[in-house]
Order: sequence, then structure tokens, then C-alpha cells
Amino acid sequence: APAAARTPALVPTHCPYCSLQCGMNLRASGAGTVEIVEREDFPVNRGALCGKGRTAPEVLSSRVRLTGPLVRRPATGRLEPATWEEALRVTADGLRRARALHGADAVGVFGGGGLTNEKAYALGKFARVVLGTSQIDYNGRFCMSSAAAAHTRAFGLDRGLPFPLEDVPRTGCVVLVGSNLAETMPPALRHLTELRENGGTLIVVDPRRTKTAEQADLHLAPRPGTDLALALGLLHLVVAQGRTDEEFIRARTTGWEEARAAAMAHWPELVERITGVGVPELRAAVDLFCDAPAAMVLTARGPEQQSKGTDTVGAWINLALATGNAGRPLSGYGCLTGQGNGQGGREHGQKADQLPGYRKLDDPAAREHVARVWGVDPASLPGPGRSAYELLDALGRDVRALLLMGSNPVVSAPRAAHVEERLRALDFLAVADVVLSETAELADVVFPVTQWAEETGTTTNLEGRVLLRRRAITPPEGIRSDLEVLHALAGLLGHEKGFPTDPEEVFGELRRASSGGPADYAGISYRRLEEEQGVFWPCPEAAEPAGDAHPGTPRLFLDGFATPDGRARFVPVVHREAGEETDAEYPVVLTTGRVVAQYQSGAQTRRVAELNAAAPGPFVEMHPRLAARVGVVDGEPVAVVSRRGRAVAPARVTETIRPDTVFMPFHWPGEGRANTLTNPALDPVSRMPEFKVCAVRLERASA
Ligand code: SF4
Repeated sequence: APAAARTPALVPTHCPYCSLQCGMNLRASGAGTVEIVEREDFPVNRGALCGKGRTAPEVLSSRVRLTGPLVRRPATGRLEPATWEEALRVTADGLRRARALHGADAVGVFGGGGLTNEKAYALGKFARVVLGTSQIDYNGRFCMSSAAAAHTRAFGLDRGLPFPLEDVPRTGCVVLVGSNLAETMPPALRHLTELRENGGTLIVVDPRRTKTAEQADLHLAPRPGTDLALALGLLHLVVAQGRTDEEFIRARTTGWEEARAAAMAHWPELVERITGVGVPELRAAVDLFCDAPAAMVLTARGPEQQSKGTDTVGAWINLALATGNAGRPLSGYGCLTGQGNGQGGREHGQKADQLPGYRKLDDPAAREHVARVWGVDPASLPGPGRSAYELLDALGRDVRALLLMGSNPVVSAPRAAHVEERLRALDFLAVADVVLSETAELADVVFPVTQWAEETGTTTNLEGRVLLRRRAITPPEGIRSDLEVLHALAGLLGHEKGFPTDPEEVFGELRRASSGGPADYAGISYRRLEEEQGVFWPCPEAAEPAGDAHPGTPRLFLDGFATPDGRARFVPVVHREAGEETDAEYPVVLTTGRVVAQYQSGAQTRRVAELNAAAPGPFVEMHPRLAARVGVVDGEPVAVVSRRGRAVAPARVTETIRPDTVFMPFHWPGEGRANTLTNPALDPVSRMPEFKVCAVRLERASA
């Protein structure tokens, strides 16, 4: 046969990692893996991939990949190979026993923002219909929940970006708050580069002079946890200089007077004292922002992962609204969601307080609609449960058995040593994962599951664009999909029907369950996703079967906000301190984050040789003045001690960080685990823990 005929077909799909969901083509290359071929047609990344995406195929054929189920044997206390039948039976027994002894809410479910929409949907339904438990939440709570809460509060609806990324280069000014996208999602940086090439300006707010901040026209470096005050100071100046958009405020918003009064109490000099950002820099930022014909404010984990994250994001939204930069072309507020399906993962029912379609679990009409699709009595559906950290904190106490999919809280949860202790205190733990993660190591049963290139399913990227990930290769023998695990467990627990294993069938049900809800997927089909470059929700069904298909909604709020009166809501917010302030015993601020070569808890990327070589372990980034005070030099081990524990990692001495702050990436377990130190103080609205600010002291580890 000619060579072309022998070449396996290209399968267009998307990266398994972050919320950019970069497009790529896959070609089966034998030995259970795939080769990536550039895919230029997808507008988000136009062919570019970061190192994580480029090396993702390595995890498919990794030697450390799980090849069969594991069950912990009482005789040895070790996880040992088992058949699927045994692993499923032991799990069904473990879940059933906890429920029989302690009630339905003694069984918990913990999901992940990396699960496809179909899996997130099936997991939420499994928890509420099969287990009858309210105790379900997911690691997305640790990701963008504050932005989601603030977005909903102000606009009546939460979609990460209410506009496509393609709009970014065409606006006049972008304020990027607490995002280092040069490291977290490098292909997105080109949208900012093009913005500046087009004459637009970029303001970056970050305590560190990151690679992203280096691209900015203006870099503001506030003390961690003070960006709420920074936003208020900017709004104060906007008002004082008469640069508000009064007509927009009058016609399209409510609550301005209260928000204005709150901002006016934050004098620039006071804001300088709180944040460490000088008044001249504040004025320069206002000039850049207000001189632009249109502007965008984009936030990420920096302002969001705080015990006042919702109000902090709210302060930035107020700034956008006061200047007329929302609900108009080429302007608006948006959140750069983190995980691959961080957006879709929060829309379809694995969140403690929500049902599919982004419906509220305590809304009688929502319960009625979803219960009808599920074929159950609405009264049988449990109410809202605990948020992620609260659920983890309850393990071994009220919650005695846990089913966990697609998450590794031993590394990624705050106060991680405590979370590890709670996981160990469970009567029963089952984990579904690709590798033996640090959390899976603690389990009684481990299910080995399929990966991105081995299964079909949808994700929803940071723009609210629903995408189809396609299966390109057959999974290895002995591996099953998460949907197959849920199907089998549901059967053993008395629900033979209602948990199909075919993703397209699950998606069909998800469409019906989401129909009429805020995140309406009813008009989106696999066929459309194959033919189009994704479809933006909301996308309701065509009015009549033969009617024109709804085109989807790339841009939200242009004709009005999703509130009952169509107006955006200002919310008055004021500065308050972080959950834990520095003092004589803990005089330095710790902030945590990411590096370009690792992803989240590192469960996959730490197992890729190239990524491991590029980022082999944690470090403590610190200013030379602080390093001199502690008595460490670059590369020397330094101990970071908080009220929750101690972590040790080499010092990385650099002038790109404030002298009162240290930074640690959180991707690693063990001695250098940054989350041993972090503070689980929760935001009262979003229940987001305070990953970005806690008080620590530094000690020479080699002393
Ligand atoms: Fe994958 Fe994100 Fe990297 Fe794109 S930026 S290749 S989606 S990890």
C-alpha cells in the first residue's frame, strides 16, 4: 500500500491539562501511545503547545502507570493486585457498610476539575441517586470558586470569560490580576503580546515580577492579600478624577452609591500603606486603564485563593463596572480558570450546592427538573453538602467512607498534613486514578482508569467553549473508564439502569438535565462539536425540531446581564486583613503557585522525564535581603515554618520578589510540600481556602 494509506488518520482533540484546552492532532504511534501533530485551526492556541501538553503522550505508556486494580490486603496491610470483580465488590461493600452504620451522609464523594463533563455529571448523579448523600464536592473549589461566586453576585451568571480569547488583542487595556500565564498557560501569552503590538497596554498585578509581569507596561506588586485594597484605591482615583462612566452606571447597574462610598473611604495614601504600591503607580494605572477606549480585567488564583477572595474579585468587578467596561464589545471582567475542565466541571453537579446546568440544589424548580430527567422523586434528592476543605476535614468523623476521582488532595489541599491524617482515619477509601498518586497510596481500593487519548468526552474551556476530546487509541487491557467504574458500582448498589458507559449517551442526558438552566447545553451535540471549533454555552435547543440550531453564545451580557432586572450589581466591599497576619513569631508572608513544567499536584507531570528534569523539585523563592537575614545562600536548604507545619526546600534567591514575601510552588509531596504550610481559612461566600497568604518564619535547614 502507498505510504499515505498506511499512515493512521489524524484525530483532532485537546490537551489533557489546563483550562486553555489547546487543540492538537493525535496519531496512534504504537506501543500504546500517540504522536502529536500540530493543529493550527483551533483559535485558542493556533498550534502552540507548552511543554506539558507536548509531553502528555508520555503518560499514556508510562511504566509507572497503573495496570490493574489494587486492593489493600488485611494480612499484609499492603495494596496488592486484584480482579475488577473483587475491587468493585470491596468498594460497594465499603460504601454500603458506612451508609448502613452511620447514615447516607457518612459516605462522601470527591471529584476533580479534570474530569470530563460526562464524568462530572455521572459522579454528581451517582452521589445523589445511588448513595443518597449530600457529601460531594470537588477540587475545583480550590481553583476558581471565589471568581465564580463574585461573577454570579455581580452579573447573575458565572462563565470564566464572557468573551472569546480572540477579543483580548483587540481591546485597549488588560489588567491581569494574580495570573502568571507565561508559566501556567504559555500559549495564551500571545494574545497579550498581540494586544501590545496593536497598541494596547498591559497592567500586571502580582507580588512577584514574573515572566508575565516582565511583559507589562506597568507592574504593580502589592503585598500578598492586599489586592482588594489596591482595586479600591484605583476606583477611588477613578471617581476623584471624574473618570467614571455615569451613563453606563445609570442605565446598566444598581448599587453604585454604596460601592462608591466604600471606595472613597480608601484614600490612595491609605492604600499605599496597606499594599506597598506607591500613589504615583496607582495614578499611572488609572491613566492606562481609563485612557483606553475599552478595557478588560482578568483575574486568576492570586485574588481568588484568599479568605476574602469573593470580595477581592468583587472589587475588581466594581472597577470594571464603574468605567463602563462590562457588557460591551471588547471589554469586561473574566476569570482565567485553571484546570482542564474547571469550567464544565463546576456546571454539572459535582459541586456541593449545584445540580446539572449550573442549577442551584436548593431551588425547588431545579430539583423538579433534574429529578424528572433522573426518574426519581425530587424529595429524595439530598440538599447542599459541605465544601471541599470542610468535607476533607470531616473524614473519619462524620464521613466514614469516600469515593475519590481525579484528585490528589494529599498534595493539593491546604493544611495537607491534616488532610492526609483525615484520609487515613477513614473506614474506607476508594480512588480512581491513572497512577498511584499520594492519595491513592492511602486507599483501600484503587481503580486504574483510562486517559484523555483513550476515551471520548467533552470539556468546557475557560471561555465557556464546549469541546470534544476524541479517543485516538485503545486503552491497555485491564483499564476501564471512570464511567464504567460508576456503572458497575451503581449496579452492585441496586441501580442497574441510569449509568451508561457510552460518553455520548451520558452527554445526551446531560443536555436534557441542563436544558433551561444557566449553563444550557441542550443545543450542543457531539456531531456539532466534531464540525465546529467548539460551541459556547448557553446553547438552548432549537425552538422547533426543524428550526435553525442555536449558534451558541460567544459573548455574554451585550443585551443585558443575567440578573432579574438585567442590570449588573455593584457590591460594596472594604479591605480586610488576611486570615493570618504576620507577627514577631511568623514575620514573613508565604504565597504559593505554579511553575511552567508541572501541573497541579504533579501526579502526571512529575512522571514525565523532560518535565521532571526541567522542574525536579520545590524551592523557596526569596529576596537577597531576606536570604541574608536568614543566613542562607542560593541553593541552600531553608525551612519554612507556619502554624500548621514545616517544609524544607532549597532557597532560590532573586530580586524579582518582595523582601517581605516568599514563594513556593505546590506541585510536590514530602518534605518540600508547600501545602503543609497553607492556611485553610475559608472565604465566607465561596468556601475557598487561603492558599495565597499565610504567615511563616524561615530557618536555616542545614544549621
Ligand atoms: Fe495543555 Fe494548557 Fe499547555 Fe495548552 S497551555 S498545552 S492546554 S497545559
